[in-house]
Amino acid sequence: MPARILLFDLDGTLLLTGGAGVRALDRVFQDLYGLKGAGRDVPFRGRTDLRIIRDIVERKLRRPMAAEEAAAICDRYLPYLEEEVERSPTYRVLPGVPALLTRLAARADCLLGLGTGNLEAAARIKLARADLNRFFPFGGFGSDAEDRVELLRRAVARGEARRTQSGADGPAEVIVIGDTHLDVQSGRALGARTVAVATGGESPETLEQAGPDVLLADLADAEAFLRFLDV
Ligand SMILES: [Mg+2]
Repeated sequence: MPARILLFDLDGTLLLTGGAGVRALDRVFQDLYGLKGAGRDVPFRGRTDLRIIRDIVERKLRRPMAAEEAAAICDRYLPYLEEEVERSPTYRVLPGVPALLTRLAARADCLLGLGTGNLEAAARIKLARADLNRFFPFGGFGSDAEDRVELLRRAVARGEARRTQSGADGPAEVIVIGDTHLDVQSGRALGARTVAVATGGESPETLEQAGPDVLLADLADAEAFLRFLDV
């Protein structure tokens, strides 16, 4: 009976696409608005897709985003993302990820999900190239909410629904794993235990300041991760 829900962030935690997302968004803004280098100087790390898109519109087009605009941008983004992920020369799965996921998936006490700012379709595209979708039957996504705490809440609710179906009672312990202080902060806001991994480019100092329960250099040391889990 799964007593734990583990929610993994995607970019910088499970894999790096080598800038495929930025290139795809650049192409969308070039198509729709004739804007070049749309993603330049816009913070991406740890933020939801919709938040990033809204930022580009506000900063680069200097006006608020219209309600139907986000949907039109996302529709164009997904096919471009698929192309960019497919041909990205520096796409890579981060150290130890498949091995750790395989071990966790084999444990009866763990339910694995995603907690990512990517639109769900975008997350599935990024994970597909490395065949990692099979580990994540559910999650909370940037298509659920622009706010990270809210999308994690949705992930927990979906995880709890699965637990209830399998006869579990009482709430699960939730663990949030991510590569930015924003993952740690939003996990903590939810009352989850948090694991920070320094594989996404944010410094260990910045991650430490956010107060994770554990800070790991990467996910290659499965034993360290499991020790934390079983405390
Ligand atoms: Mg990340």
